[in-house]
Amino acid sequence: MSTSLWFDPWLSGVSLVDRYGESVIQDSGLQRNARLSSVIKEGEWDWPVNFPDLIDIYNLTSGLSLSNTSDRIHWMKKGGTFTIREACNVINMQGSEVEWWKLAWFPRSIPKHCFCLWLTFWEAHRTLDKLVRWGVVSTSNCCFGCGQEESIDHLFFSCPFTARVCKHFLGLCGFRRTPRGWREESAWCISRLKGNGFKLWITKLTLAAVLYHCWQERNNRLFNNCFHNFEYLVKCIEEDVGGKCIGLSMVEDNPSNRDIFYNWNLPPSLLSVRPLQRWAVLPGSVGGHTR
Ligand SMILES: [Zn+2]
Repeated sequence: MSTSLWFDPWLSGVSLVDRYGESVIQDSGLQRNARLSSVIKEGEWDWPVNFPDLIDIYNLTSGLSLSNTSDRIHWMKKGGTFTIREACNVINMQGSEVEWWKLAWFPRSIPKHCFCLWLTFWEAHRTLDKLVRWGVVSTSNCCFGCGQEESIDHLFFSCPFTARVCKHFLGLCGFRRTPRGWREESAWCISRLKGNGFKLWITKLTLAAVLYHCWQERNNRLFNNCFHNFEYLVKCIEEDVGGKCIGLSMVEDNPSNRDIFYNWNLPPSLLSVRPLQRWAVLPGSVGGHTR
């Protein structure tokens, strides 16, 4: 019997020290490293009953029958075994699925971009409007010089600077539209970017890249006094998205995909003439997607 008398949660899932405090050890006169077997003699409980806490323990355990089999700790329920997955499920309360999770987590994505997008969907970025409300800074002027207040809605993509970047790349992906604030943009993305085709994949990849680089540029301007222009951001995003596309194989050759290949200056040799169920061999991708 290797179970710790004081520190293992053998009594109703709680250790005796957690239930009664450290003083119960001293009151009992037993060792701190005592095992559960030290209070069992000849198949019967044998508690010292010199203090109220110990009398209470005696009463609680008197209804527990003892057997000669080895002690075993179960996870959550009798027969349950511990796994990291089960532990995560206990720690992270499972909630309903968010409708945007496939926009943030998808195969062949760029993880740091997806994380930025995930934060944006949760409106978790510490934008200047929040920092002013918290008393951290005194002004919330947008760092892109538009004279408006910086907020999630403004940065993505009401701001003329970021809107220009976003509009440029939406155009490369075959969407002719002017971006608006994040609430409208996120609703548009959720309704229009469902599915697994190449056009949808590259649009999701691009959206995450645009968000990431706009946020990076904002941080560089605010904290590093480092300013880049529209052309620089376009180059960074093109490199990230284009680099991901180079590794593709078997993209279906159709007019829509051909246009996108032309817009992005991708090698036509990646296009396949065969009609395909899936346009590429995709590795698995994981990510949290519940709230
Ligand atoms: Zn602005």
